[in-house]
Amino acid sequence: MTTIDTLETAPVALEISGVHKWYGAHRVLDGIDLTIRPGEVTVILGPSGSGKSTLLRVINHLEKPEIGHVSVNGEPIGVKRQGDRLKELSERAILAQRSRIGFVFQNFNLFPHLTVLDNVAAAPIATGKLGKTQAQALAKELLERVGLGERVGAYPRQLSGGQQQRVAIARALALRPGVILFDEPTSALDPELVGEVLAVIKDLATSGTTLVIVTHEIGFAREIADRVVFIDGGRIVEQGPPSEVLDKPQHERTRDFLSKVL
Ligand code: ADP
Ligand code: MG
Repeated sequence: MTTIDTLETAPVALEISGVHKWYGAHRVLDGIDLTIRPGEVTVILGPSGSGKSTLLRVINHLEKPEIGHVSVNGEPIGVKRQGDRLKELSERAILAQRSRIGFVFQNFNLFPHLTVLDNVAAAPIATGKLGKTQAQALAKELLERVGLGERVGAYPRQLSGGQQQRVAIARALALRPGVILFDEPTSALDPELVGEVLAVIKDLATSGTTLVIVTHEIGFAREIADRVVFIDGGRIVEQGPPSEVLDKPQHERTRDFLSKVL
């Protein structure tokens, strides 16, 4: 089998094709195409305002692109095929799709009034995937995986930022998502807490989870990314393995960006 055949027949975890997004007259995404394979770890880099968060929000259907589409594991996001036409999905169907995509935010976004255990157990219960006992058993297991097995009864405010972000990662894992999106997961943390969160993400990366990570942690990107995608002005400027994009960038804009963050 040739390389081309292999690529064509390999399953696709995430397909973004021709995505354009405007806010009013401001074009924020300007024709993004990206195909991500199962288990692939993709790091997205780019200056502030380049459209990175918007891209993640489009993938998760928190924003709707004006042109183009996204599919996760072969299933189009937000629409379904009816004959040869596309029809918008109901809000309920969109929520079901969204539950198959994990999202970890910069500011953790935990439920402040719920314990750590209930934060992680909440979504599998709310979506009817698991009963309460099973969801709590799963939550305990996931919290152990992120090193917080001893803190299941704590409330978010009693935890450090690094611990809260690890809870948020366990919460994203609880729905067994096909892909997990991270939007600058360590940029709200004190420097001494960054490492513990990156270690948990690295554990996911090496265990075959499909990850899309927006981060300015270049050293981390070099270590874990299969592919680095550099975005500027809502366009992919260049992409490739870290050894190319980070060490031998082809475009002036990439070189300029890297010289500022390295
Ligand atoms: P990044 O994450 O790369 O910093 P964003 O995707 O957050 O960039 O934003 C890209 C551009 O879109 C910015 O100019 C930002 O001001 C603008 N933008 C983002 N969200 C909105 C919104 N809800 N309404 C209007 N403009 C927005
Ligand atoms: Mg952003």
